Amino acid sequence: MELRKDPITRSWVIVGDEAEHASLPGYCPFCPGASVPPHTIATVNSGAGAVSAVVHPSPLYRIEGEPQRRSEGIYDAMNTVGAHEVVVQSVRHDMELWQSSEGEISQFLLLAAQRIQDLKNDLRFKYVTLFKNYGAPAGQEFSHPVSEITATTFVPRRVLYELRASRDYYLDKERCVFCDTLNQELRKPVRIVEELGNFVAMCPFASRVPYEVWIMPKRHESSFERAATAPGAHVDELSRLLRRTLQRVMSIAEAFHMVLHTVPNTYQKSNILQYWKTVDEDYHWHLELMPIVAARAKPYFLKEVYYTPISSEVAAERLRKLSVR
Ligand SMILES: [Zn+2]
Ligand SMILES: [Zn+2]
Ligand SMILES: [Zn+2]
Repeated sequence: MELRKDPITRSWVIVGDEAEHASLPGYCPFCPGASVPPHTIATVNSGAGAVSAVVHPSPLYRIEGEPQRRSEGIYDAMNTVGAHEVVVQSVRHDMELWQSSEGEISQFLLLAAQRIQDLKNDLRFKYVTLFKNYGAPAGQEFSHPVSEITATTFVPRRVLYELRASRDYYLDKERCVFCDTLNQELRKPVRIVEELGNFVAMCPFASRVPYEVWIMPKRHESSFERAATAPGAHVDELSRLLRRTLQRVMSIAEAFHMVLHTVPNTYQKSNILQYWKTVDEDYHWHLELMPIVAARAKPYFLKEVYYTPISSEVAAERLRKLSVR
């Protein structure tokens, strides 16, 4: 496998001819007592409350070696060096995040934050993130309740767009575009799903899919992992809001993607550090939830332009009215 860069859009693409790994029916590598348990990297708690980070059984990125960035004429390619971990959210095979207690979700978020911080100490990695694919239409890979962490030698395209746009906005206004958005949304809360302590769940003005929800801190903070592990962090509030928002999403959708957008690795020396000089002021971490509701096939032009048949105001109103605990 290798990474190839599209010379026009500058997006990195993983290209590989590897065979699909067939999984044995009924066998779960993440349940206690698995015959071939994956290599454990870190664990918090023990017994029934354990949350662990393990090496992905068939990783997209591998930790050994150097990226060896190379050119082939005008093209750029590099090795798939990185990290690909699975966060086993619960030892129970049937306990998903939104069914877990606030305490259990907090342990999961804390372990994820610790893993991201640890991976960021590796100067080869430019970006580390946490994501979850739930449900077959979202490409869920394992039946066990898990999330994944990847560390990459490049910043993924969508985050790069956000980082560049946030920096441009900051250079122009000397303010964070996420803080400005949040302040405006809170003044007239038609797209706010819920405010809980220091966090907000809202449907973005230009949602890409129906019921898209972002969870973010009210106070400016560029780094999820730094905020979550700092003394006095309100991880309990974040856990509660995440559980309640996922319960809302799960009562209208059969599947979802969840992805953490946080600051890139600014330990990177060289010109990268210069490039992200204002990132702590201009970027604001958030969790993006992209529900997948039963969709009709789309004509081609709607694949190039997002089309959402439900506006974010209607979506927020429907999500607010759902009963959650
Ligand atoms: Zn299992
Ligand atoms: Zn901000
Ligand atoms: Zn984002």
